[in-house]
Amino acid sequence: MRQAGKSLPGDVHALRVIWPFVPVVIALALFTIASVDVLSAARALVAGESQWSRGQKNAVMHLLRYGEDRDEADFRAYLSDIAAPMGDHRARIELDRDKPDYERARAGFLAGAIHADDIAGIFRLYRNFRHVEEVDAAIRIWAEGDREIAALHEQAMALRQLVAEPGCGVACVEPVLQGIVAIDARLTPLEAAFSQQLGRASRRVTRWLTVGAVVVALALLLSGILLCQGRLRRERRLREALATSEERLQLAVGGSNDGLWDWDVRSGKLYFSPRCAQMLGFEPDALPHARETLLGLLHPADLNGFDDKLWRHLRRGEPYDANFRLRTSGDGYLWVRARGRLVRGDDGRVMRMAGSLTDISEHKRYESQLFAEKERAQVTLQAIGDAVVTTDVWGRIESLNPTAEALTGWREEEARGRLLQQVCALCEEGSEAPLRNLVALALQQRWPGMTALLTGRGGRTVAVKPSVALIRDRSAQAIGVVVVLHDISHEREHAARLAHEASHDALTGLVNRTEFERRLAAAIARVRVTSGTHALMYLDLDQFKVVNDTCGHAAGDELIRQMAAVMRAQLRKGDTLARLGGDEFGILLEHCPAPDAERMAESLRRAVAGFRFTHRQRTFAVGVSIGLVALDGDTGGVAEAMSAADAACYVAKENGRNRVQVYHPQDSVVQARHGEMEWVSRVHAALAAGRFCLYEQEIVPLHGQRQGRKHVELLLRMVDERNQLVPPMAFVPACERYNLMPMIDRWVVETAFATLAQRRAESAEDIALCAINLSASSLADVRFPTFIREQAQRTGVALSGICFEITETAAISNLAQAAAFIEQMQALGCVFALDDFGAGMASFIYLKHLPAAYLKIDGSFVREMLDDPVNQVMVEVIQRIGHAMGKKTIAEYVETEAELARLRELGVDLAQGHHIAPPVPFVPTPRQATATIGEARGLEALMTD
Ligand code: GH3
Ligand code: MG
Repeated sequence: MRQAGKSLPGDVHALRVIWPFVPVVIALALFTIASVDVLSAARALVAGESQWSRGQKNAVMHLLRYGEDRDEADFRAYLSDIAAPMGDHRARIELDRDKPDYERARAGFLAGAIHADDIAGIFRLYRNFRHVEEVDAAIRIWAEGDREIAALHEQAMALRQLVAEPGCGVACVEPVLQGIVAIDARLTPLEAAFSQQLGRASRRVTRWLTVGAVVVALALLLSGILLCQGRLRRERRLREALATSEERLQLAVGGSNDGLWDWDVRSGKLYFSPRCAQMLGFEPDALPHARETLLGLLHPADLNGFDDKLWRHLRRGEPYDANFRLRTSGDGYLWVRARGRLVRGDDGRVMRMAGSLTDISEHKRYESQLFAEKERAQVTLQAIGDAVVTTDVWGRIESLNPTAEALTGWREEEARGRLLQQVCALCEEGSEAPLRNLVALALQQRWPGMTALLTGRGGRTVAVKPSVALIRDRSAQAIGVVVVLHDISHEREHAARLAHEASHDALTGLVNRTEFERRLAAAIARVRVTSGTHALMYLDLDQFKVVNDTCGHAAGDELIRQMAAVMRAQLRKGDTLARLGGDEFGILLEHCPAPDAERMAESLRRAVAGFRFTHRQRTFAVGVSIGLVALDGDTGGVAEAMSAADAACYVAKENGRNRVQVYHPQDSVVQARHGEMEWVSRVHAALAAGRFCLYEQEIVPLHGQRQGRKHVELLLRMVDERNQLVPPMAFVPACERYNLMPMIDRWVVETAFATLAQRRAESAEDIALCAINLSASSLADVRFPTFIREQAQRTGVALSGICFEITETAAISNLAQAAAFIEQMQALGCVFALDDFGAGMASFIYLKHLPAAYLKIDGSFVREMLDDPVNQVMVEVIQRIGHAMGKKTIAEYVETEAELARLRELGVDLAQGHHIAPPVPFVPTPRQATATIGEARGLEALMTD
């Protein structure tokens, strides 16, 4: 550790701990050595004293024996024995000197039979403890003993002389011997005293040593205690500091919610704190502390990045801060951020690496959300159709989206940093005054919201609707402005196009009926207040369908376009030419007197008639029928004027086509035409008031028994404003001409299906086959089959119980559409009947193409068949051909029994007519309803289909 490098080396540290004990231990050791030395010296002295005593005793013994025996051997033995006390004596004398000659002293002790090893100890004892009372007393006893020894030796020498004197007998030596005995007697207590004194000294020394040892031990203990206390205090302080630091660390780690890791690089062990395991959803001790654990949990895609970061940290010393994913216990992955640092030893070698692990999954989630948001915003901005410009609060451009680049002609890189007004040159529409600084307006939150003109770099001007908004930071402080320029030029073009389309005809580009009627109304209004005359023309091309049928619809369109051009060329500048629909045109000639108008109409007709339309080498001449009405102050209104012009045009048709008909109110044909038009409004009113109703008339088989459930045909009736029943012949032609039949047919189908469903619900399901009449225009309506299917689904009525009757002429007028309709409906189960069959002579040719199940023989043949053989033959022919083609025949208008009998003879399959069953109201509950409308039934005789 680097910190370890800064601390004291271990031995110095140990020395610091040990040094207080060193003097104490040395003292103890010295003391012990001294003690042992002293005791050993004392022991040596005691041993010396014993040698001394033995020498002295043996010397006395040999001396006494010498006095008796006078044997020289005894005297020599004496000398040998006395040598030890004498040696000790010499040594003591030497030691008593201030500067003793230790060699002489040593020689003395050696002579005193003291072991050579003990001599040094005796020196130290003698010299160092001389002042000790007991030692001093012992030495004084020793000195006294030495004086006695000296006396003894004098006696011995005296004895020797006496013995050597001739003639000295026992008595001669006796006093000497007694003196010797006396000396011996005096020495014996001295020896005991010396030993005692020495024993006392040794005990005292022992006591001292014990006290000393105790004192040293106490000192040692004390210093140990003091030292320990010091160390304990220091240790406690360290422990407290460590605990505080650890607590702080725990708080910091706990507070940060991070996990810790510690990688011992040398052993490869990788420690994970419990928080690491918890983060990944493992039990605290479930993660083995090894580097492999981490590698095993690492997301494969993050492995390279992980290694790279580690390598950079280890080799280049870059901070280690890596984000990667670790597998959790739930087999998902958790984003974590690992930060750490290397720890090197004193020798600079990597020892370990440790750091923290932070759960950043939330952060990553926010980051990816933020990225997605930003990406979305960027893509939106790129894809948005409006020009979006952002600026800082000083109006300097920061960004332009592609639309803004296209509108302004500036590329984003060029525009960045420039002022908004420099790049977006906006001026007020109309006044052309440059727009005030948009950024300032946004900052003041005063945006007027007007439209403006933007002049691009290339000079192109576009109408835009600018909107400005502030961009604020979190503290709601404005940090910029976003300017959105909505290009409204397309919208304006579109609006203009819509307005044009709403008032013009797409095929010819002429004004349409709506616009024409608006201009007509304005002209009529003007003519009422100003004197003068206008003229209105209603034109319908003659036999236009021929071109359509022979050359196709596209060629018909082309003819209409060319006709429009031909007509336009004949008109004055201010005249209005309109296409009213189909091959019908309208012309409004303002301020045009009647004669001029007639002339113009005639020249128009001639121009049209003279025009040749060529299509694929075929040339067509088309006439035009023109109805002309003069408009003056008396003209009622648009509808009246149009109706009059239409009626006049109709009359022109009736009169042979390709002519001009001036409207005269008294003209009978014109009035009839007017009558038809009145029917249109009456039919509308009746439908709105629910004054249409259905009747049913039964169709019965002529051969065999009538079956349980009926075959009926539904007949349409209108009840007029005076509650009178109106037969269809009165209003159907008008409805056909004014295209009301599809609406009426739909009403009939809807009512029929609803009534059938109701009858079935009321257990009156007495109808096996219900025939419904359809007009030619419904057959051409491509949405009609869908309508029928919807009605069947809604009411639950089976289509197999429905028979549609279509007139021969309706079918033939558009054979292909009729055949397609029949096929389509037959596939759903419906059957078909061809109505009024035989009325047109082309019937048989077309019959092959119409897969109808029934042929209804036209009533005009049946009604007069008994009187007119031709009619009878017609009935027979139709019946035979029908049978040959596998179709059933129905004879309508059967009014007598004779007719019925004849029809039966001819083999006709079914019959219908007043003789068989009159029409009765087709209502949910037949009996009840019949009674309630008895009033209307009086008119039934008048009714025809
Ligand atoms: P008439 O002499 O009685 O006017 O007979 P016509 O053949 O001109 O027929 P009519 O005026 O009664 O009907 C006009 C026809 O023009 C009906 C329709 O088939 C056809 N038609 C209507 N609109 C268009 C159209 O936009 N383009 C084409 N090519 N044909 C149309
Ligand atoms: Mg026409």
